[in-house]
Amino acid sequence: MITKNNPMNLFAGSKAIIHLLIFLLISSCEAQSNPNGKVVSQEKIKSSNLIKLEEFVKNHPDNGESSQSLGMVSNGSLKNGKLMPFSGKNFQYFDTSSYTMGRAFVHSKVREIVLLTYEAMEKETPDHRYFLMETSNEKGGKLDPHHTHQNGLSIDFMTPLLKNGKEYNGLDTMGVTHYFMEFDDNGYYKKDTSVTINFDIIALHLLQLNKEAQKQGMKIEKVIFKLELKDELFACKYGDMLKQSGIYFAQRLTPMVNSVHDDHYHVDFGFIK
Ligand SMILES: [Zn+2]
Repeated sequence: MITKNNPMNLFAGSKAIIHLLIFLLISSCEAQSNPNGKVVSQEKIKSSNLIKLEEFVKNHPDNGESSQSLGMVSNGSLKNGKLMPFSGKNFQYFDTSSYTMGRAFVHSKVREIVLLTYEAMEKETPDHRYFLMETSNEKGGKLDPHHTHQNGLSIDFMTPLLKNGKEYNGLDTMGVTHYFMEFDDNGYYKKDTSVTINFDIIALHLLQLNKEAQKQGMKIEKVIFKLELKDELFACKYGDMLKQSGIYFAQRLTPMVNSVHDDHYHVDFGFIK
């Protein structure tokens, strides 16, 4: 979820401006890696990103201890944060720079839940590739411009898409600018209405996440998804199951927070008390 106390609130409703902050944060880091300003070929950028990625993973080994989430998603920290794998058989993280800036850490149980869910989805949705977006810093705390994501229990999942009714990943690898994408209230991509949200996959994914969470003594505490898209989600093939699951969806959002939760759905996990 994006901060509502952010000075960017002045631009409430303008998704592009809100996410400009993430973009600037990440792209300024990239710019520093090329201080001489030379034009670098796409191939070289790709291979240097790969090296950075490998180094980052190597420098953040798992210490084998379980994590501890302290405080709340909106004011908290994380002990023994675990790095999500950059990719797996049917999933990948959305942006190499975001990843190497350390924005993909979670609580150990959340990592387990998310990975076991992807494993289960290999059978349920064998043709679908899942993308996850920002999670938390290694030690939690503020992750600008998100309001939550502070204690390893929050994850942004990329909204799955269809193009002309068929599985479509063509817009999933655009990196951090993915946060800028805008959809109308029926789930059509504003720049190309042949692209629509795949609500069936969202529903199935959330149901499985909640199932795996319960095995770990946890649950989905809250989902944040654009309010106007919820009727489409609940009208999908698995909508009734989603309703019956009791997974809580945010009921009221500020216009700014609402407007940014279409290209991704935000999930907060919580411990069952
Ligand atoms: Zn979020």
